[in-house]
Amino acid sequence: MDILAHALYGVTLCSRTGLAGGRQGAVIRGPYISDWTVWAAVGFGVLPDMSSIGAYFIQMLIRGDSLSFHSLPSSVYVLYHCTHSLMIASVFLLVLGLLKRSLVVPALAWPLHIVMDSFSHGDGRWQTLMLYPVSNWHLHGINWWQHPGLMMLYWGILPILWIGIYVWRHASDSQRGKTVNYK
Ligand SMILES: [Zn+2]
Repeated sequence: MDILAHALYGVTLCSRTGLAGGRQGAVIRGPYISDWTVWAAVGFGVLPDMSSIGAYFIQMLIRGDSLSFHSLPSSVYVLYHCTHSLMIASVFLLVLGLLKRSLVVPALAWPLHIVMDSFSHGDGRWQTLMLYPVSNWHLHGINWWQHPGLMMLYWGILPILWIGIYVWRHASDSQRGKTVNYK
């Protein structure tokens, strides 16, 4: 999946403004951008790509080199497989749970990124090795950049999810109103 979609799926499913906020949603004063879990979910949602290929591309930009996916050093692939491993993400989440429990739910945007990539990356250099470095097992997904239909699908699901969250919360508000009226 493209990086913007990863960021938005992270917010949609792993922030308090999104689904992880339950029926109540984020309890904040001001606009939804003041919900820190939104930004944490964005960070963890893009972390697997930004800390591997992204970090390398930033280095190239600083050096003044032109960006290219060709002839990347093998270290970038190793880093990419590490950041796209559910095993490594799980260890990180366990440690995070001990150190900063409130960050764990937004941090689930990281394994979410991995699971979504496993379906939207086909065999080849960018396949998602979910059990790396223990095993090279992977699903046989399809490359999102070669299938516009897949891109349209995952972008199309996003507004449906937000409508669903809104309706769910709104319906529970009306229910609460009815309960109060009975009393
Ligand atoms: Zn990725």
